[in-house]
Amino acid sequence: MPQIDSLDRGGSQQRDSLSHQAIEDYVKTIYALAQEESPVSTSRVAAARMVKPASATSMIQRLARLNLVNYEKHYGVTLTAAGEKLALEVIRHHRLLELYLMEALGFRWDEVHEQADILEHVISEKLEERIAAALNHPTFDPHGEPIPALDGTMPVVDTTALADVPAGARARVSRVPDDSNSELLRYLAGLGLVPGAEVLVAEVAPFLGPLTVEIDGARHAIGRNLADMVLVEKWAVGQ
Ligand SMILES: [Zn+2]
Repeated sequence: MPQIDSLDRGGSQQRDSLSHQAIEDYVKTIYALAQEESPVSTSRVAAARMVKPASATSMIQRLARLNLVNYEKHYGVTLTAAGEKLALEVIRHHRLLELYLMEALGFRWDEVHEQADILEHVISEKLEERIAAALNHPTFDPHGEPIPALDGTMPVVDTTALADVPAGARARVSRVPDDSNSELLRYLAGLGLVPGAEVLVAEVAPFLGPLTVEIDGARHAIGRNLADMVLVEKWAVGQ
């Protein structure tokens, strides 16, 4: 086989899968940003995708032609029903994959996000269904993030930041940041700050100082930035 031919075909296949992946990544990003503020400005999308505003705008216009978003210049972007459905499907893939990689294949929780970011775009609905069944239809991923059901509904958990828990109160960890910051996840795991863990907030230093937390009988001082990123369920004061 002439090498140039195979390279060519490889190249165009890669371009196709890249644009399919880019569409899903943008829809997922817009979905996440819309949870904070909707409509989402193109500059926020550009910052989140780490691209120039002009690139984000042209991608958003493409998504609008595919009827995945509504876009008006100077107003911003919102997902259509079809766009939201696609975002939730990709998020479902991602979170199921993270749990499967940990439970079935022994990956650590700080390794799975990177793998899932790639695989979420390529698994079939059949494989997704098998993974969900193998895991007994889970509702949360390893970082405590809810897994959308097939109909797009998600379990709702009433959470607050660990930083907002008063001294003397106990809380159960619900959710940690799921991103590519493996170092942060390894640090949290070392402290035992993982979903399901019970934490006693022993002391809260004044003037936005650190929190002293007790987990499994061991005390650790953690910065407020970190305590802001860890979400907990509602707490009870006292022992
Ligand atoms: Zn992830």
